[in-house]
This record gives sequence, structure tokens and C-alpha cells, in this order.
Amino acid sequence: MSKGTPSFGKRGKRKSHITCRRCGKHSYSVNKKFCTSCGFGKGSRLKTFAWQWKRVLGKRNRKK
Ligand SMILES: [Zn+2]
Repeated sequence: MSKGTPSFGKRGKRKSHITCRRCGKHSYSVNKKFCTSCGFGKGSRLKTFAWQWKRVLGKRNRKK
């Protein structure tokens, strides 16, 4: 299969993600059995990263 327009026909045939039971986003992976958005299926904790703190907490609450 070549790159570009001909290969785009394969898009959407397999569903890789369904609606997540915890966060409600369309990010729950059917094959991997976990949510790529909140981490549901991997553990009880919500998936968070340090680089999100600036956005979530704001500049003042950022860890130094
Ligand atoms: Zn989720």
C-alpha cells in the first residue's frame, strides 16, 4: 500500500478506540484495553504528566 490518498481508504475500517467508561472520551483502546486519555484500565489513578501542570495549575503553582 502506497502513502497518500489511496491508503486513506483503510482509515476508519477498524475501530481502535471506543468511548471510555471513566472519562467519557473516545479514547478507550479496544485492543490494548486501556484509555489513552485518562489511563482507565491501567490503574485506579488518573493519567497525569508533569508537563500538564502548567496548564492545569497555572504558572504560580508550578513546581520549581
Ligand atoms: Zn478515559
